[in-house]
Amino acid sequence: MPDFVIAPPAIPSVPVAGGGDFPVRRIYCIGRNYPEHAREMGHDPEREPPFFFSKPADALVTGGAETPYPPATSDLHHEIELVVAIGGEGAGIAVADALDHVFGYAAGIDLTRRDMQAVAKKQARPWDMAKAFDHSAPVGDIVPAARIGHPAKGPIALAVNGKDRQLGDIVDMIWPVPDAIAYLSTLVTLMPGDLIFTGTPAGVAAVERGDLLQGTIAGVGTVTTRIV
Ligand code: MN
Repeated sequence: MPDFVIAPPAIPSVPVAGGGDFPVRRIYCIGRNYPEHAREMGHDPEREPPFFFSKPADALVTGGAETPYPPATSDLHHEIELVVAIGGEGAGIAVADALDHVFGYAAGIDLTRRDMQAVAKKQARPWDMAKAFDHSAPVGDIVPAARIGHPAKGPIALAVNGKDRQLGDIVDMIWPVPDAIAYLSTLVTLMPGDLIFTGTPAGVAAVERGDLLQGTIAGVGTVTTRIV
């Protein structure tokens, strides 16, 4: 055991539906994985291979807890996403084997400082401060694949204060879950505890303090948080 000179940080985790907690190692996120969202952001979805960014594991907001509005933005956007929880290590994973590495699924929200991201894009700078800030990853409970299987189609939606904002279908992912896992595993070794946010459908928009965000993915679950 190391002789830590300060108290080691806690291991972030997500409750598992039915009991227990899923310890989180890394959070990978796919950009522009739904054609209509790629178009609303000004890109041609036919021409782009997948790309990834990440969030720190301790950016998670779980159990329906409130999400503090972050500093340094006046354009905080919601992105509802299917989240994949990795349960088995792998590198260079074949598409056909990819789902064997999945522990379960959850609904999550990739909160984004859109104004800061726009500046980063324009200046060809990293997205970290636009995407990887504190409390930037609200996520619902993880449901084991052993219980629900591997969802490949069905509505994914987000409402703000009860009004529909985003609606899509996970069948429209440009890189479906097995393909995304396989591709990402050519870049890094995936490990148990990794989460993958798989991109958002169209309809992203700003939220304000006091707004209640409710995301739903059919056959998976929900994510709920209030911005405060
Ligand atoms: Mn996203």
